[in-house]
Amino acid sequence: MKIAILSRNRKLYSTRRLVEAAKQRDHEVRVVDTLKCYMDITSTKPVVWYGEEKLVGYDAVIPRIGASITNYGLAVIRQFEMMGVYCLTESVALGRSRDKLRAHQLLSRKNVGMPNTSFAHDINNTKHLIKLAGGAPLVVKLLAGTQGRGVILAETAKAAESVIDAFRELKADILVQEFIKEAGGSDVRCLVIGNRVVAAMQRTAQAGEFRSNLHRGGTAELTKLTPLERRTAVTAAQTMGLHVAGVDLLRAERGPLVMEVNSSPGLEGIESATGKDVAGAIIQFIETNAKPNKTRTRGK
Ligand code: ADP
Ligand code: GLU
Repeated sequence: MKIAILSRNRKLYSTRRLVEAAKQRDHEVRVVDTLKCYMDITSTKPVVWYGEEKLVGYDAVIPRIGASITNYGLAVIRQFEMMGVYCLTESVALGRSRDKLRAHQLLSRKNVGMPNTSFAHDINNTKHLIKLAGGAPLVVKLLAGTQGRGVILAETAKAAESVIDAFRELKADILVQEFIKEAGGSDVRCLVIGNRVVAAMQRTAQAGEFRSNLHRGGTAELTKLTPLERRTAVTAAQTMGLHVAGVDLLRAERGPLVMEVNSSPGLEGIESATGKDVAGAIIQFIETNAKPNKTRTRGK
């Protein structure tokens, strides 16, 4: 097969591993810088240009789109979809998972377990918002944040009120969420491919911290999932329409609760914590599933 990986940086661990896994399995593979792709959108024959060259003849595209270029990345993926090229991450699925409000609404519609959550932007009734999320202690999240930045634990209703009021001044979207204390500063990253979880790791926060992000000094280890945890992770990925996803779960008393569904999950942490060849499994999935015109949405 001829495979293109959309990535801004060929040196990133995940990009390198996908290239390696594709070559190992005798595919022709190339890294294409998403931002260097350009398109003539008035033409009835959709094409993606790259320098002087038309990107044609690809059997599959693997989008690895960073959060900061989501919109441009979506346009590039849509263009490939319009050309009938199989995209591992479809534009609509990427759009759903990147918009946290949309993702939460879709998951709740499918009855996927989630921490009690409410959203707001410019709220003038902070007390009611706090009550909706079940009262203190609460986690307040700035929706624009990543890697645990902008995620705050408010232990009391008073603290929650001042955090929400401060965020309100920033004119940002915020999410107010029940604090899952019994998760004990741990969460579980499930790497879903198709209808299976192929690898899972438990991440645990360092002492005195409730955020388990590896960027915040958390540590990762292999973990065994319960059947319900597996089903929850797969349902969450499929609700987004993602063939490959990193689903983050909190282990709560009432069962697994989905926190987030990532559409470009990093491979380094999960491969080193579990020893699994996740990149190889992704290429294998593409071998079985990539067919011309086999994107569900064709960029619509
Ligand atoms: P980001 O997307 O920036 O990583 P998250 O929403 O994943 O932010 O939160 C960061 C970390 O904080 C999580 O990995 C988890 O360990 C912890 N956390 C987040 N929300 C909750 C919650 N409702 N209850 C308990 N812990 C939480
Ligand atoms: N690569 C990051 C992760 O998997 C974020 C991916 C995304 O925003 O979809 O945690």
